[in-house]
Amino acid sequence: MFNQDNDPRRPRPPSDSRGFFMLPQAPMDSGYYVYGNLYQRPAKGAYQYAHPLMMTAILNVGLEWQAMDTRRFGVGDISLPGGIKTPDHGGHKSGLNVDIRPLRKDGREEPVKWSDPEYDQVATYALINLFHIFAQVQRVIFNDPGIPFLVRAERHDDHFHLDLRG
Ligand SMILES: [Zn+2]
Repeated sequence: MFNQDNDPRRPRPPSDSRGFFMLPQAPMDSGYYVYGNLYQRPAKGAYQYAHPLMMTAILNVGLEWQAMDTRRFGVGDISLPGGIKTPDHGGHKSGLNVDIRPLRKDGREEPVKWSDPEYDQVATYALINLFHIFAQVQRVIFNDPGIPFLVRAERHDDHFHLDLRG
């Protein structure tokens, strides 16, 4: 249900107890869009506090991506303010983990699984490669068998989870 806590217009603290900032939520011409749990707790944006290395990686990849492709890629959970733990995610506490949606052929900013016809493997592979170029990627979890060097895990069909080295 909609309440004050998940009102996206409600002001949020600019940085958390670690000094991490929230990923910009409505950036112009940045190559990415954000997705989250608008009608659930935590509110949209609350799960997008990023370690400075992660912030730099997403912003740089976004700018590079925007020069290559008119579609935007979807950025989901990073970490909660202060790195607190939640029951639904084992990781995502350091600000160095991010969930990203694969690209869709139709460019719609919606979920897609690697096994769906709308999934764009070429673009998704290119996006993963950009992260390797612009950041120290430790691990990428995603179940598409057509992309090399991925770790497979349950519930990683409609997003790839990317860990950076701290
Ligand atoms: Zn994840």
